[in-house]
Amino acid sequence: MATINDNFLKLQAGYLFPEIGRRVDEFAKANPDAAAKIIKLGIGDVTEPLPEACVVAMHKAVDDLSSRDSFHGYGPSEGYDWLREVIVEHDYRARGCDISADEVFISDGSKCDSAGILDILGGDNIIAVTDPVYPVYVDTNVMAGNTGGADGDGRYGGLVYLPVTAENNFTPALPTSKVDVIYLCYPNNPTGSVATKQTLQKWVDYAKVHGSLILFDAAYEAYITEPGIPRSIYEIPGAREVAIEFRSFSKNAGFTGTRCAFTVVPKGLTGRAADGSDVELHGLWQRRQSTKFNGVSYIVQRGAEAVYSEAGQQQIAGLVSFYLENARIIREALERAGMTVFGGVSAPYVWIKTPAGQSSWEFFDTLLRDTHIVGTPGSGFGAAGEGYLRLSAFNSRENVEEAMRRIGAVLAV
Ligand SMILES: *Cc1c(COP(=O)(O)O)cnc(C)c1O
Repeated sequence: MATINDNFLKLQAGYLFPEIGRRVDEFAKANPDAAAKIIKLGIGDVTEPLPEACVVAMHKAVDDLSSRDSFHGYGPSEGYDWLREVIVEHDYRARGCDISADEVFISDGSKCDSAGILDILGGDNIIAVTDPVYPVYVDTNVMAGNTGGADGDGRYGGLVYLPVTAENNFTPALPTSKVDVIYLCYPNNPTGSVATKQTLQKWVDYAKVHGSLILFDAAYEAYITEPGIPRSIYEIPGAREVAIEFRSFSKNAGFTGTRCAFTVVPKGLTGRAADGSDVELHGLWQRRQSTKFNGVSYIVQRGAEAVYSEAGQQQIAGLVSFYLENARIIREALERAGMTVFGGVSAPYVWIKTPAGQSSWEFFDTLLRDTHIVGTPGSGFGAAGEGYLRLSAFNSRENVEEAMRRIGAVLAV
Protein backbone atom coordinates (compact mmCIF):
# COMPACT_ATOMS: atom_id res chain seq x y z
CA MET A 1 0.00 0.00 0.00
CA ALA A 2 1.15 3.56 -0.67
CA THR A 3 2.44 5.24 2.45
CA ILE A 4 1.58 8.79 3.47
CA ASN A 5 3.54 11.81 4.64
CA ASP A 6 3.32 11.06 8.35
CA ASN A 7 4.15 14.66 9.17
CA PHE A 8 0.52 15.51 8.38
CA LEU A 9 -0.48 13.43 11.40
CA LYS A 10 1.37 15.85 13.66
CA LEU A 11 -0.87 18.75 12.57
CA GLN A 12 -3.33 20.10 15.09
CA ALA A 13 -6.27 19.14 12.83
CA GLY A 14 -7.22 22.58 11.36
CA TYR A 15 -8.79 23.28 14.70
CA LEU A 16 -9.42 27.02 14.87
CA PHE A 17 -11.93 27.95 12.16
CA PRO A 18 -13.95 24.70 12.33
CA GLU A 19 -14.27 25.18 16.10
CA ILE A 20 -15.43 28.77 15.60
CA GLY A 21 -17.98 27.53 13.06
CA ARG A 22 -19.18 24.83 15.46
CA ARG A 23 -19.72 27.28 18.32
CA VAL A 24 -21.51 29.79 16.06
CA ASP A 25 -23.82 27.06 14.70
CA GLU A 26 -24.56 25.81 18.19
CA PHE A 27 -25.38 29.34 19.38
CA ALA A 28 -27.60 30.00 16.34
CA LYS A 29 -29.54 26.76 16.92
CA ALA A 30 -30.08 27.48 20.59
CA ASN A 31 -31.02 31.13 19.93
CA PRO A 32 -32.98 31.28 16.68
CA ASP A 33 -33.98 34.92 17.32
CA ALA A 34 -30.36 36.00 17.53
CA ALA A 35 -29.16 33.93 14.58
CA ALA A 36 -29.93 36.59 11.97
CA LYS A 37 -28.09 39.20 14.02
CA ILE A 38 -24.72 37.43 14.04
CA ILE A 39 -21.95 39.65 12.64
CA LYS A 40 -18.74 37.91 11.65
CA LEU A 41 -15.65 39.95 12.40
CA GLY A 42 -13.52 36.86 12.53
CA ILE A 43 -12.34 36.19 9.03
CA GLY A 44 -9.43 37.82 7.23
CA ASP A 45 -11.13 38.15 3.86
CA VAL A 46 -11.99 41.39 2.10
CA THR A 47 -15.62 42.32 1.42
CA GLU A 48 -15.52 45.22 -1.07
CA PRO A 49 -15.59 44.71 -4.87
CA LEU A 50 -12.52 44.93 -7.10
CA PRO A 51 -11.21 48.39 -8.05
CA GLU A 52 -12.83 49.66 -11.25
CA ALA A 53 -9.42 50.05 -12.95
CA CYS A 54 -8.71 46.34 -12.43
CA VAL A 55 -12.14 45.32 -13.67
CA VAL A 56 -11.73 47.37 -16.86
CA ALA A 57 -8.22 45.95 -17.45
CA MET A 58 -9.41 42.37 -16.96
CA HIS A 59 -12.37 42.85 -19.33
CA LYS A 60 -9.95 44.14 -21.94
CA ALA A 61 -7.62 41.21 -21.29
CA VAL A 62 -10.47 38.78 -21.99
CA ASP A 63 -10.98 40.56 -25.31
CA ASP A 64 -7.25 40.20 -26.05
CA LEU A 65 -7.59 36.45 -25.68
CA SER A 66 -10.57 36.36 -28.01
CA SER A 67 -8.58 37.08 -31.16
CA ARG A 68 -5.67 35.20 -32.68
CA ASP A 69 -3.51 38.36 -32.98
CA SER A 70 -3.53 39.19 -29.29
CA PHE A 71 -4.04 35.70 -27.85
CA HIS A 72 -1.77 34.53 -24.99
CA GLY A 73 -1.16 30.91 -24.05
CA TYR A 74 1.37 29.93 -21.43
CA GLY A 75 3.14 32.99 -20.10
CA PRO A 76 6.52 33.04 -18.37
CA SER A 77 6.24 31.09 -15.09
CA GLU A 78 7.82 34.05 -13.27
CA GLY A 79 5.25 36.49 -14.70
CA TYR A 80 5.08 38.98 -17.57
CA ASP A 81 7.86 41.57 -17.70
CA TRP A 82 5.39 44.46 -17.95
CA LEU A 83 4.00 43.55 -14.53
CA ARG A 84 7.40 42.90 -12.94
CA GLU A 85 8.65 46.27 -14.26
CA VAL A 86 5.74 48.30 -12.93
CA ILE A 87 6.02 46.58 -9.52
CA VAL A 88 9.70 47.43 -9.25
CA GLU A 89 9.08 51.02 -10.33
CA HIS A 90 6.27 51.72 -7.83
CA ASP A 91 6.96 49.46 -4.88
CA TYR A 92 10.75 49.52 -4.80
CA ARG A 93 12.62 52.15 -6.88
CA ALA A 94 10.20 54.87 -5.78
CA ARG A 95 11.11 54.02 -2.18
CA GLY A 96 14.83 53.87 -2.80
CA CYS A 97 15.01 50.06 -2.77
CA ASP A 98 17.49 48.46 -5.15
CA ILE A 99 15.35 45.64 -6.60
CA SER A 100 15.31 44.69 -10.28
CA ALA A 101 12.42 43.26 -12.31
CA ASP A 102 14.06 39.84 -12.72
CA GLU A 103 14.15 39.47 -8.93
CA VAL A 104 10.33 39.63 -8.81
CA PHE A 105 8.39 36.36 -9.23
CA ILE A 106 4.66 36.77 -9.92
CA SER A 107 2.49 34.08 -8.33
CA ASP A 108 -1.07 33.20 -7.46
CA GLY A 109 -0.65 33.95 -3.78
CA SER A 110 1.63 34.69 -0.87
CA LYS A 111 0.20 31.76 1.01
CA CYS A 112 1.48 29.27 -1.56
CA ASP A 113 4.80 31.10 -1.94
CA SER A 114 5.46 31.17 1.79
CA ALA A 115 4.73 27.43 1.74
CA GLY A 116 6.63 26.68 -1.47
CA ILE A 117 9.78 28.44 -0.34
CA LEU A 118 10.50 25.46 1.93
CA ASP A 119 11.17 23.42 -1.24
CA ILE A 120 14.46 25.22 -1.75
CA LEU A 121 15.57 25.16 1.91
CA GLY A 122 17.23 22.28 3.74
CA GLY A 123 15.51 20.09 6.28
CA ASP A 124 17.98 20.81 9.06
CA ASN A 125 17.36 24.54 9.55
CA ILE A 126 16.45 25.93 12.95
CA ILE A 127 13.29 27.91 12.29
CA ALA A 128 11.90 30.81 14.32
CA VAL A 129 8.35 32.16 14.26
CA THR A 130 6.64 34.79 16.34
CA ASP A 131 3.95 33.65 18.76
CA PRO A 132 1.11 34.42 17.93
CA VAL A 133 1.70 33.84 14.22
CA TYR A 134 0.01 33.40 10.81
CA PRO A 135 -0.56 29.63 11.08
CA VAL A 136 0.61 28.93 7.50
CA TYR A 137 4.28 29.40 8.44
CA VAL A 138 4.03 26.80 11.18
CA ASP A 139 1.84 24.22 9.45
CA THR A 140 3.94 24.19 6.27
CA ASN A 141 7.04 23.48 8.34
CA VAL A 142 5.20 20.66 10.09
CA MET A 143 4.19 19.18 6.71
CA ALA A 144 7.77 19.48 5.46
CA GLY A 145 9.02 17.47 8.43
CA ASN A 146 10.90 20.38 9.98
CA THR A 147 9.30 19.93 13.42
CA GLY A 148 8.50 17.35 16.04
CA GLY A 149 5.04 16.79 17.46
CA ALA A 150 2.92 19.39 19.27
CA ASP A 151 2.83 19.81 23.06
CA GLY A 152 -0.28 20.54 25.15
CA ASP A 153 -0.16 24.24 24.21
CA GLY A 154 0.10 23.42 20.51
CA ARG A 155 3.80 24.31 20.28
CA TYR A 156 5.74 22.05 17.92
CA GLY A 157 9.06 20.57 18.95
CA GLY A 158 12.04 21.97 17.08
CA LEU A 159 10.53 25.40 16.32
CA VAL A 160 11.78 28.50 18.12
CA TYR A 161 8.80 30.59 19.30
CA LEU A 162 9.34 34.31 19.88
CA PRO A 163 6.49 35.65 22.04
CA VAL A 164 4.89 38.95 21.01
CA THR A 165 2.62 40.33 23.70
CA ALA A 166 1.70 43.66 25.26
CA GLU A 167 4.57 43.07 27.73
CA ASN A 168 7.19 43.44 24.98
CA ASN A 169 5.14 45.93 22.97
CA PHE A 170 4.61 43.25 20.30
CA THR A 171 8.28 43.42 19.35
CA PRO A 172 9.92 39.99 19.48
CA ALA A 173 13.26 39.74 21.25
CA LEU A 174 16.11 38.39 19.14
CA PRO A 175 16.53 34.63 19.66
CA THR A 176 18.94 33.71 22.42
CA SER A 177 20.30 30.81 20.36
CA LYS A 178 21.20 30.86 16.68
CA VAL A 179 18.34 30.38 14.21
CA ASP A 180 18.69 29.83 10.46
CA VAL A 181 15.29 30.98 9.19
CA ILE A 182 13.04 33.69 10.67
CA TYR A 183 9.49 34.46 9.58
CA LEU A 184 8.45 38.08 10.10
CA CYS A 185 5.10 39.59 9.10
CA TYR A 186 4.60 43.38 9.22
CA PRO A 187 2.11 44.98 9.52
CA ASN A 188 1.28 41.93 11.58
CA ASN A 189 -1.52 39.45 11.28
CA PRO A 190 -2.96 38.83 13.90
CA THR A 191 -1.75 41.55 16.30
CA GLY A 192 -2.00 44.56 13.95
CA SER A 193 1.41 45.79 15.12
CA VAL A 194 4.09 47.34 12.91
CA ALA A 195 7.90 47.17 12.91
CA THR A 196 10.03 50.29 13.00
CA LYS A 197 13.19 50.75 10.95
CA GLN A 198 15.26 50.12 14.07
CA THR A 199 13.47 46.84 14.78
CA LEU A 200 13.95 45.58 11.24
CA GLN A 201 17.57 46.75 11.21
CA LYS A 202 18.14 44.67 14.35
CA TRP A 203 16.82 41.60 12.50
CA VAL A 204 18.86 42.27 9.37
CA ASP A 205 21.99 42.69 11.50
CA TYR A 206 21.20 39.48 13.38
CA ALA A 207 20.70 37.62 10.09
CA LYS A 208 24.00 38.90 8.71
CA VAL A 209 25.93 37.84 11.79
CA HIS A 210 24.36 34.38 11.94
CA GLY A 211 23.94 33.68 8.22
CA SER A 212 20.16 33.50 8.74
CA LEU A 213 17.43 33.97 6.15
CA ILE A 214 14.52 36.35 6.86
CA LEU A 215 11.19 35.48 5.22
CA PHE A 216 9.39 38.82 5.29
CA ASP A 217 5.62 38.86 4.69
CA ALA A 218 4.45 42.36 3.73
CA ALA A 219 0.89 41.43 2.72
CA TYR A 220 -0.50 44.41 4.69
CA GLU A 221 2.05 47.00 3.54
CA ALA A 222 -0.69 49.20 2.02
CA TYR A 223 -2.23 49.68 5.46
CA ILE A 224 0.74 51.53 6.93
CA THR A 225 -0.37 55.00 8.04
CA GLU A 226 2.26 55.76 10.67
CA PRO A 227 5.13 57.88 9.37
CA GLY A 228 8.59 56.33 9.10
CA ILE A 229 7.41 52.71 9.14
CA PRO A 230 9.14 50.71 6.36
CA ARG A 231 6.88 49.21 3.69
CA SER A 232 9.51 46.78 2.51
CA ILE A 233 12.35 44.96 4.27
CA TYR A 234 14.57 46.26 1.45
CA GLU A 235 14.31 49.76 2.90
CA ILE A 236 16.74 48.42 5.49
CA PRO A 237 20.42 48.57 4.49
CA GLY A 238 21.85 45.08 4.01
CA ALA A 239 18.44 43.38 3.63
CA ARG A 240 19.15 42.26 0.06
CA GLU A 241 21.76 39.84 1.41
CA VAL A 242 19.47 38.23 3.98
CA ALA A 243 15.79 38.55 3.06
CA ILE A 244 13.07 37.24 0.77
CA GLU A 245 9.90 39.36 0.65
CA PHE A 246 6.33 38.20 0.02
CA ARG A 247 3.76 40.69 -1.30
CA SER A 248 0.17 40.19 -2.34
CA PHE A 249 -2.64 42.00 -4.16
CA SER A 250 -5.13 40.27 -1.86
CA LYS A 251 -5.46 42.89 0.86
CA ASN A 252 -4.70 46.13 -1.00
CA ALA A 253 -6.71 45.46 -4.18
CA GLY A 254 -9.18 42.84 -2.98
CA PHE A 255 -7.61 40.01 -5.04
CA THR A 256 -8.30 37.30 -2.41
CA GLY A 257 -10.51 35.50 -4.92
CA THR A 258 -8.78 36.75 -8.07
CA ARG A 259 -5.31 35.51 -6.96
CA CYS A 260 -2.15 37.46 -7.63
CA ALA A 261 0.93 38.06 -5.51
CA PHE A 262 4.69 38.22 -5.89
CA THR A 263 7.86 37.15 -4.15
CA VAL A 264 11.17 38.99 -4.31
CA VAL A 265 14.32 36.88 -4.23
CA PRO A 266 17.36 39.16 -4.58
CA LYS A 267 20.34 37.93 -6.55
CA GLY A 268 23.35 37.41 -4.35
CA LEU A 269 21.21 36.08 -1.49
CA THR A 270 22.66 32.64 -0.79
CA GLY A 271 22.17 29.52 1.28
CA ARG A 272 24.66 26.83 2.23
CA ALA A 273 24.81 23.55 0.27
CA ALA A 274 25.73 20.23 1.89
CA ASP A 275 29.21 20.45 0.35
CA GLY A 276 29.76 23.76 2.13
CA SER A 277 29.43 25.98 -0.93
CA ASP A 278 27.14 29.03 -1.10
CA VAL A 279 24.32 28.76 -3.63
CA GLU A 280 22.09 31.61 -4.84
CA LEU A 281 18.46 31.19 -3.77
CA HIS A 282 17.31 33.18 -6.84
CA GLY A 283 18.33 30.39 -9.22
CA LEU A 284 16.77 27.74 -7.02
CA TRP A 285 13.44 29.60 -6.81
CA GLN A 286 13.46 30.19 -10.57
CA ARG A 287 14.00 26.45 -11.07
CA ARG A 288 11.34 25.55 -8.53
CA GLN A 289 8.75 27.88 -10.06
CA SER A 290 9.43 26.84 -13.65
CA THR A 291 9.02 23.19 -12.62
CA LYS A 292 6.00 23.40 -10.31
CA PHE A 293 4.14 26.47 -11.59
CA ASN A 294 2.92 27.63 -14.99
CA GLY A 295 2.25 31.25 -14.20
CA VAL A 296 -0.71 33.43 -13.25
CA SER A 297 -3.38 33.94 -15.89
CA TYR A 298 -2.81 36.76 -18.38
CA ILE A 299 -6.17 38.26 -17.40
CA VAL A 300 -5.29 38.45 -13.73
CA GLN A 301 -1.82 39.86 -14.39
CA ARG A 302 -3.41 42.62 -16.50
CA GLY A 303 -5.71 43.29 -13.55
CA ALA A 304 -2.71 43.51 -11.21
CA GLU A 305 -0.91 45.83 -13.62
CA ALA A 306 -3.91 48.19 -13.43
CA VAL A 307 -3.40 48.48 -9.66
CA TYR A 308 -0.42 50.69 -10.56
CA SER A 309 -2.30 52.99 -12.94
CA GLU A 310 -3.22 56.42 -11.62
CA ALA A 311 -6.87 55.40 -11.27
CA GLY A 312 -5.87 52.07 -9.71
CA GLN A 313 -3.67 53.76 -7.12
CA GLN A 314 -6.51 56.12 -6.16
CA GLN A 315 -8.99 53.28 -5.95
CA ILE A 316 -6.83 51.03 -3.77
CA ALA A 317 -6.12 53.99 -1.50
CA GLY A 318 -9.91 54.34 -1.19
CA LEU A 319 -10.34 50.65 -0.34
CA VAL A 320 -7.59 50.68 2.25
CA SER A 321 -8.90 53.81 3.93
CA PHE A 322 -12.38 52.33 3.99
CA TYR A 323 -11.13 49.31 5.96
CA LEU A 324 -8.90 51.47 8.15
CA GLU A 325 -11.91 53.64 9.01
CA ASN A 326 -13.71 50.43 10.05
CA ALA A 327 -10.68 49.59 12.19
CA ARG A 328 -10.79 53.04 13.80
CA ILE A 329 -14.50 52.66 14.59
CA ILE A 330 -13.83 49.26 16.17
CA ARG A 331 -10.82 50.44 18.15
CA GLU A 332 -12.50 53.54 19.52
CA ALA A 333 -15.73 51.74 20.44
CA LEU A 334 -13.78 49.10 22.35
CA GLU A 335 -11.74 51.73 24.14
CA ARG A 336 -14.90 53.60 25.10
CA ALA A 337 -16.18 50.30 26.49
CA GLY A 338 -13.10 50.25 28.72
CA MET A 339 -11.12 47.60 26.89
CA THR A 340 -7.42 47.51 26.12
CA VAL A 341 -6.83 47.28 22.37
CA PHE A 342 -3.82 47.17 20.06
CA GLY A 343 -3.33 47.46 16.30
CA GLY A 344 -5.95 48.76 13.89
CA VAL A 345 -3.92 51.88 13.03
CA SER A 346 -1.66 50.51 10.29
CA ALA A 347 -3.42 47.16 9.91
CA PRO A 348 -6.96 45.91 9.34
CA TYR A 349 -6.88 43.94 12.60
CA VAL A 350 -7.66 45.02 16.14
CA TRP A 351 -6.10 42.87 18.85
CA ILE A 352 -8.06 43.00 22.09
CA LYS A 353 -6.82 42.10 25.54
CA THR A 354 -9.64 39.99 26.95
CA PRO A 355 -11.31 41.76 29.88
CA ALA A 356 -11.40 40.44 33.43
CA GLY A 357 -8.82 37.76 32.83
CA GLN A 358 -11.06 35.72 30.52
CA SER A 359 -9.38 33.18 28.27
CA SER A 360 -9.53 33.79 24.53
CA TRP A 361 -12.32 31.23 24.12
CA GLU A 362 -14.25 32.51 27.15
CA PHE A 363 -14.23 36.02 25.68
CA PHE A 364 -15.17 34.61 22.27
CA ASP A 365 -18.24 32.99 23.89
CA THR A 366 -19.08 36.17 25.86
CA LEU A 367 -18.98 38.30 22.72
CA LEU A 368 -21.08 35.81 20.79
CA ARG A 369 -23.67 35.44 23.55
CA ASP A 370 -24.01 39.10 24.55
CA THR A 371 -23.38 40.95 21.28
CA HIS A 372 -23.68 38.20 18.60
CA ILE A 373 -20.28 39.22 17.25
CA VAL A 374 -17.85 36.56 16.06
CA GLY A 375 -14.15 37.25 16.65
CA THR A 376 -11.10 35.01 16.41
CA PRO A 377 -9.62 33.72 19.69
CA GLY A 378 -6.00 34.83 20.01
CA SER A 379 -4.98 31.42 21.32
CA GLY A 380 -5.77 30.03 17.86
CA PHE A 381 -2.70 31.87 16.54
CA GLY A 382 -0.34 30.47 19.16
CA ALA A 383 0.05 29.88 22.88
CA ALA A 384 1.15 33.48 23.52
CA GLY A 385 -2.08 34.70 21.89
CA GLU A 386 -3.98 33.34 24.90
CA GLY A 387 -5.81 36.20 26.62
CA TYR A 388 -6.38 38.08 23.35
CA LEU A 389 -9.02 38.13 20.62
CA ARG A 390 -8.75 39.44 17.03
CA LEU A 391 -11.44 41.51 15.33
CA SER A 392 -11.14 42.11 11.60
CA ALA A 393 -12.02 45.39 9.88
CA PHE A 394 -12.99 43.56 6.69
CA ASN A 395 -16.74 44.10 6.68
CA SER A 396 -19.40 46.57 5.58
CA ARG A 397 -19.60 49.91 7.42
CA GLU A 398 -23.16 49.04 8.39
CA ASN A 399 -22.11 45.79 10.09
CA VAL A 400 -19.15 47.39 11.83
CA GLU A 401 -21.27 50.24 13.18
CA GLU A 402 -24.02 47.90 14.32
CA ALA A 403 -21.48 45.60 15.99
CA MET A 404 -19.92 48.51 17.85
CA ARG A 405 -23.33 49.86 18.94
CA ARG A 406 -23.92 46.51 20.61
CA ILE A 407 -20.50 46.55 22.25
CA GLY A 408 -21.26 50.02 23.63
CA ALA A 409 -24.70 48.97 24.89
CA VAL A 410 -23.80 45.59 26.38
CA LEU A 411 -20.16 45.28 27.13
CA ALA A 412 -19.17 48.62 28.66
CA VAL A 413 -17.35 47.93 31.91
C1 LIG B 1 -3.93 37.47 3.68
C2 LIG B 1 -2.51 37.18 3.96
C3 LIG B 1 -1.62 36.89 2.93
C4 LIG B 1 -2.05 36.89 1.49
O1 LIG B 1 -2.16 35.61 1.01
P1 LIG B 1 -2.60 35.36 -0.49
O2 LIG B 1 -2.31 33.90 -0.69
O3 LIG B 1 -1.72 36.22 -1.36
O4 LIG B 1 -4.05 35.69 -0.62
C5 LIG B 1 -0.30 36.64 3.25
N1 LIG B 1 0.13 36.68 4.53
C6 LIG B 1 -0.69 36.97 5.53
C7 LIG B 1 -0.16 37.03 6.91
C8 LIG B 1 -2.04 37.21 5.29
O5 LIG B 1 -2.86 37.47 6.32
